[in-house]
Amino acid sequence: MSKIGLPRGLLYYEFAPLWTTFFEALGAEVVVSPKTNKKILDDGTRYCVDDACIPVKVFHGHVLNLKNKVDTLFIPRIMGIHQKEYICPKFCGLPEMIKYSINDLPKMINTKIDYTKKDQSKRTMNQIASYITTNKKTIQKAYQMANQSYTEYKKNQKELLISNNHNIMIMGHPYIIYDDFLNMSIKKKLKKAGLYPVTYDIFDESILNKYALGYHGKIFWLFFRKMIGACLYLIDHKLVDGVIYLSSFGCGIDSVVAETVERNIRRNSQIPFMLITIDEHSGEAGFNTRLEAFIDMLKWRNKDENYLSPYGDYVYSR
Ligand code: SF4
Repeated sequence: MSKIGLPRGLLYYEFAPLWTTFFEALGAEVVVSPKTNKKILDDGTRYCVDDACIPVKVFHGHVLNLKNKVDTLFIPRIMGIHQKEYICPKFCGLPEMIKYSINDLPKMINTKIDYTKKDQSKRTMNQIASYITTNKKTIQKAYQMANQSYTEYKKNQKELLISNNHNIMIMGHPYIIYDDFLNMSIKKKLKKAGLYPVTYDIFDESILNKYALGYHGKIFWLFFRKMIGACLYLIDHKLVDGVIYLSSFGCGIDSVVAETVERNIRRNSQIPFMLITIDEHSGEAGFNTRLEAFIDMLKWRNKDENYLSPYGDYVYSR
């Protein structure tokens, strides 16, 4: 039985159920690297090119963890996931980055995933499946099971916002907001402080799309659409008590997305906003201090009930 290694990094956090179900239904054994830890980060940092962002370095660490445990690694070349919408170029060159940074790798499934064009899904899955089997019936069944499993996973992500509870929206790329090592267990820390962390995945795509359309200008990036859609929806509905954006140092996409989200929230709402940028040198003590200060400010606002904004016009107009 073929052993397929899935590195627990980057878009694993978006597609894990789809890929795992697909390979298992094809008859392969799936091996997923462990949750990110210090060794994985340190190994990844050592092998990856210096200028890469921390999620890409961590991905290298996950590959190193798997390389002697599996006979095939799944590292697809992701060009885009939705039509007329692009993804960070690092995903397009990921198989090469890995190949030229790490020696003695097992075989790699590096199929191109390009859903920017119409009707590519089935054809792409057939190409991936061909590494394991050519049985058409098995592939068809695996394809259906994988789609079903992905739909259920997305449905389960729609946690409910708790009304009158202090909801805090965590924004950022999925491989940061769902990787508890990279985000320094921010959700656990917020819960401990009596707050309720949520992510933009609680909203239906239709809501995100509708609000993203209200943004002036064409949106080219997948996660930009989701985050600006969530941001404009939050401003309209005042559903959260605060927004924390977790960004990766050196991320070109975030230099636009985080800035746009911050500007919109600060100019058009009174929702407190905090941007935290992380890299492999970030210390947890500094992170905790900023988080605690943010939480104290939220509690102070609730206690005093004046919602005086520390930003711009509001300081002078009330
Ligand atoms: S979008 Fe930013 S954080 Fe994500 S892989 Fe690209 S550079 Fe790294």
